[in-house]
Amino acid sequence: MCVFCKIIASEIPSERLYEDDDMIIIKDINPQAKIHLLMIPKEHFPDITAMNDKQAATLARMLKTLGGLTDKLGLENGFRLVSNKGDDGCQSVPHLHIHILGGEKLSENMA
Ligand code: AMP
Ligand code: ZN
Repeated sequence: MCVFCKIIASEIPSERLYEDDDMIIIKDINPQAKIHLLMIPKEHFPDITAMNDKQAATLARMLKTLGGLTDKLGLENGFRLVSNKGDDGCQSVPHLHIHILGGEKLSENMA
């Protein structure tokens, strides 16, 4: 089981800020911005482009849900979403996750 599947199964502790049938939102253990969260689908799929139609619909719902959570998460002033894929993208966990970065003015450089 991958590390995020273990977090979803509560076999590894995490700071869970939100949960529904589709996903969890947790605090990243190694924050790279004042607010650094991870939006993780409960279903294991490897990355942002490895999706069937059902999983694509899940991802769309996750993004729509995030839109309603920005105040609760302290992101009312804006945020950045990042999803790393593969070696060049420096993906380290092979379970789709979307980084949510905010809580401060972010760098204009993205790489
Ligand atoms: P990536 O490098 O895009 O695959 O992102 C993986 C992210 O998962 C990194 O930002 C890590 O800090 C984060 N991470 C790894 N293990 C944990 C954990 N147990 N709890 C919270 N975040 C984690
Ligand atoms: Zn997994």
